[in-house]
Amino acid sequence: MALSFYNTLGRSLEVFEPRKAGEAGFYGCGPTVYNYAHIGNLRAYVLHDILVRTLRRLGFKVTHVMNITDVGHLSGDNDEGDDKMVKSAEERGKSVLEVADFYTRAFFQDTERMNIIRPTVVCRATEHVADMIALIEKIERAGFTYFAGGNLYYDITKFPSYGELARLRMEELRAGARTGVDENKRNPQDFVLWFTKSKFENQALVWDSPWGRGYPGWHIECSAMSIKYLGEQFDIHAGGIDHVPIHHTNEIAQSEAATGKHPWVRYWIHNEFLVLDKGKMSKSSGNFLTLPSLAEAGYEPLDYRYFLLGGHYRSQLQFSYEALEGARNARKSLRDRIRALADRAGGIPAPAGNGGGPELPAEGKAASYLAAFIRAMEDDLSTPRALAELWGLLRDTALSPGEALAAALDMDRILGLGLAEEAGKKGTEDPDFVRKIEGLIAERSEAKKAKDFARADKIRQELKEQGIILEDGAGGTAWRRG
Ligand code: AMP
Ligand code: ZN
Repeated sequence: MALSFYNTLGRSLEVFEPRKAGEAGFYGCGPTVYNYAHIGNLRAYVLHDILVRTLRRLGFKVTHVMNITDVGHLSGDNDEGDDKMVKSAEERGKSVLEVADFYTRAFFQDTERMNIIRPTVVCRATEHVADMIALIEKIERAGFTYFAGGNLYYDITKFPSYGELARLRMEELRAGARTGVDENKRNPQDFVLWFTKSKFENQALVWDSPWGRGYPGWHIECSAMSIKYLGEQFDIHAGGIDHVPIHHTNEIAQSEAATGKHPWVRYWIHNEFLVLDKGKMSKSSGNFLTLPSLAEAGYEPLDYRYFLLGGHYRSQLQFSYEALEGARNARKSLRDRIRALADRAGGIPAPAGNGGGPELPAEGKAASYLAAFIRAMEDDLSTPRALAELWGLLRDTALSPGEALAAALDMDRILGLGLAEEAGKKGTEDPDFVRKIEGLIAERSEAKKAKDFARADKIRQELKEQGIILEDGAGGTAWRRG
């Protein structure tokens, strides 16, 4: 089967045909860094990762671009509510950039722990304001804007296919409710490209522009940065399902108005939400689960990754600790099986892929599990079916261990469960515990360097009380359980 995605644009499964043979340009909307990512947000980034890994496994050269929103995102996607970054900075007594820096770091710590491969380009909105201004000028020159009450607006009635992605109907939009809508807007769905009259006192970050000193609307950053790094037309754009009616609809309107080219993006991929039994999870309400909160409850980041892969990205997924427990047990069993295979095959081979690695089975049963696995991924990234093929392979006692292992590790290039590393580990230490010990060892060697031997001895003693023995050697300090 050929690689196919469900394209939100046509509401159907479509074969992926890249603009340039063998290459794929992909933009995934990134986080707004005013708080920790919640586990629902992480569902979106695991999907982006699975998409990128699948494309690469199938031989595409992928450029993956992700934005970091550190300006302009209001709590309502349609210019209503508070400025998320400014509000968070005020609450925390920090500057907006400090808040952005802190949560950007936390975000990549989370994604790294979940084996999410870093995008090719990560771009911060505040570092691309000049690109946004240049794009807004193009939109203005093309006649799609008006200036009112100190802000520059996009007039949706100038763009006849406005709302196509979300199947919104222009007549209904025009007749839409106006309650609570900014009085300057000619149509309720018009949106701000550039704010100068901020509704907030002391707007922290402002820039000079042809329309006055101010700051960009939220949607323009994704148009400007994706075009900058991927060109005026590119292959795939992804984000959560909530972005269909406003954010992505507006991104299309802006980009096509600026370039005059259609379609801006060929394939739109949207993930459904992760839901709690209590309902929607929301970063702004402060009531949400994070990766560290799952760790506190005893679950590793990859348990959560496994849990996510068990659901198809286009179905809502209900989070529960019982289900996460099931994922943890399944992962443990996966590890045990891989380890047993490795013992029988004489070790864990180097990772498969471009860098060499084990020979993949070309025919026979292991090859057919692998082929079925790839077919599942080609069929709209069907991870639950792909996982079932991995299990089928590992349960099949008729396979040669070397072939089964090579096929399983190849599957893991897409699944990203770190099977080779996990199976190669001597014990099953909790990674957070290991990090804590390694942090203390580093602190002890700093103390020794600074001739603070009392502190160094104290750390050794503290660890000993926890049953950890340190052994100093030429290559550094090793630890073991005493
Ligand atoms: P934000 O940081 O709020 O801009 O959101 C980051 C990404 O997470 C966006 O693609 C959202 O659509 C997505 N998202 C937000 N909440 C959820 C959820 N509960 N489940 C899955 N994706 C979500
Ligand atoms: Zn976006």
